Amino acid sequence: MPVNIIDGRQLSDLLIEEMAQEVKVRMAQGHQQPGLAVVLVGEDPASTIYVRNKIRCAEKAGLFSVVTRLDETCTQQELEDVVNELNERDDIHGILVQLPLPEHLSEERIINLIKPSKDVDGFHPVNVGLLSSGQATLIPCTPLGCLEILKREMGDLSGKHAVVVGRSNIVGKPMANLLLQANCTVSIVHSKTIDAAALCRQADILVAAVGVAELVDDNWVKPGAVVIDVGINATEIDGKRKLVGDVNFENVAGKCRAITPVPGGVGPMTIACLIKNTLVAAKQN
Ligand code: NAD
Repeated sequence: MPVNIIDGRQLSDLLIEEMAQEVKVRMAQGHQQPGLAVVLVGEDPASTIYVRNKIRCAEKAGLFSVVTRLDETCTQQELEDVVNELNERDDIHGILVQLPLPEHLSEERIINLIKPSKDVDGFHPVNVGLLSSGQATLIPCTPLGCLEILKREMGDLSGKHAVVVGRSNIVGKPMANLLLQANCTVSIVHSKTIDAAALCRQADILVAAVGVAELVDDNWVKPGAVVIDVGINATEIDGKRKLVGDVNFENVAGKCRAITPVPGGVGPMTIACLIKNTLVAAKQN
């Protein structure tokens, strides 16, 4: 059977279009326009592109959006003042502070400062706790996007063996939690795991969120598995800058049933889920 290369851009466009319709209907019914605030510190090129794409999609979905840009050298207090002000604004339902922050700023303090009800990244400890106890909450966008892809690709995930490579707070751990809630048998592979490849070869669903270019090769993959590649790694091939995932796409595509490409797989779905979370936050308000 030929491999299905999952088109994350197409799926993201579809979801954003559906949400745009929903926003239109809700506003016609007299509801407030959902508002998203993005805070960007410094001028990291990747972060600047991510923020631009997030705002573009928010506008496509009919959201009100604001971007606050702070200088690379801003103080913790200046950043906290911005977050406090956004926490109090009635027209802002979702707040996202683009990570990573410059080293002199505490990400933890900023994550903890955002009101849990406006935490559209789903990183606040209150939301992390609600997710891990299986209660409704704002869920981190990247794993939420991966789950949406998997459900569309496979339908019911019950009983599948899912292996998540990576245990970060923003991808690996929430991904494992979501798969557990979808009744998968879940294994987590990380940098200290012995024989990661052997564990991954047992997976019906393999999610790679490591940040190591093309770490997952075809000898890590069971024939017929569904492979989700979260990684975004900048490499240089023949003097040209190229983005590659954590999966060796060429080799693995020959072995699996379906795979997300990089770019154009998980990335666009992450943004669609950010819009979704902002809508959820606005509705709960
Ligand atoms: P992270 O650095 O916080 O975590 C990486 C994890 O991988 C760690 O838990 C570590 O234990 C594990 N790891 C490292 N080397 C390993 C190895 N050799 N074998 C097994 N596990 C190993 O990274 P992150 O924030 O989770 O991001 C992972 C990747 O996903 C990065 O490339 C990042 O750019 C990308 N990412 C993409 C999106 C998106 O929207 N597509 C969103 C977030 C992150």
